[in-house]
Amino acid sequence: AKIQGKRRFCLFNDGMADKVRLRMQTEQRLRQAMHRQAFELHYQPLISLSEAQLVGFEALIRWREPDRLIFPDSFITIAEECGLIHDIGEWVLRSACKQAKQWQDGYPRPLRVAVNVSARQFAAPDFVRKVGLILLETGLYPHLLELEVTESTLQIMEDSQRVLGELKALGVSIAIDDFGTGYSSMALLKHLTIDRLKIDRSFVKDTPEAVRDCAICRAIVTLAHSLMLSITAEGVETTEQADFLAKIGCDTAQGYLFAKPLPQEALAEYLTLWQGR
Ligand code: C2E
Ligand code: CA
Ligand code: CA
Ligand code: CA
Repeated sequence: AKIQGKRRFCLFNDGMADKVRLRMQTEQRLRQAMHRQAFELHYQPLISLSEAQLVGFEALIRWREPDRLIFPDSFITIAEECGLIHDIGEWVLRSACKQAKQWQDGYPRPLRVAVNVSARQFAAPDFVRKVGLILLETGLYPHLLELEVTESTLQIMEDSQRVLGELKALGVSIAIDDFGTGYSSMALLKHLTIDRLKIDRSFVKDTPEAVRDCAICRAIVTLAHSLMLSITAEGVETTEQADFLAKIGCDTAQGYLFAKPLPQEALAEYLTLWQGR
């Protein structure tokens, strides 16, 4: 009987059950993290290539544990699946707007803040109202807030055009994140009112050596400008990439070449560096 019991236990304890248990633990830890305010935002500089100027920051979430920092790729999907993304997303939006209001008050040139919005957050019926309230509450000029949504987010939603229209009416701008990696990129551009495309890092990575990648980047920049959209390249790691992107007319760049996402402490120092220029 003892052996049988053991075997049963083993059966129950197979890979699936482990996965379920791990998932439930992560959910639980995420809930506690939200409760204990264990999230923080790091800010990655956005650099105008034509003016060689700092024009803003993208806010990127991190989860601070006593012994390590956890990156969003390992918890955003879980937060989406268990619905916690609504609370986390609202916290991100409010914190980023508060931060940008400080730049608005203290920095001589306008700096925008770009905030990632997940699909479920964008699809929530009260999303636009929340954005409006947070802008009112923080006093940030709406044109200094840019929301980044992916192609698939816009794709899966029937009335994304209506939501984008309402966000436009608030005065915030919209960027399509990871442009070129989703389905029907062109169909989206045909129908949706947006302000900016962000060329996905995968297209930037092998420039300027790889001829095909250069052609793709050039085509996306031309496409964006023909549609009166601005364009940002992400994942710029070398001066060669930056030179190439500047040459083909890409407006803004972001990547380790300029700076990694900066924690709060490094942010003030970074801004002081630019202030004199
Ligand atoms: P993303 O929006 O495409 O963000 C760019 C990612 O590339 C960031 O990773 C950034 O740290 C990284 N990166 C920036 N420059 C370079 C570079 O030169 N080289 C390389 N190899 N990587 C670079 P991170 O911060 O780990 O974020 C991963 C993804 O998680 C983001 O991709 C975004 O989709 C999501 N995410 C981040 N913060 C939030 C958030 O507040 N809310 C939501 N819903 N999603 C978020
Ligand atoms: Ca982004
Ligand atoms: Ca991106
Ligand atoms: Ca990406």
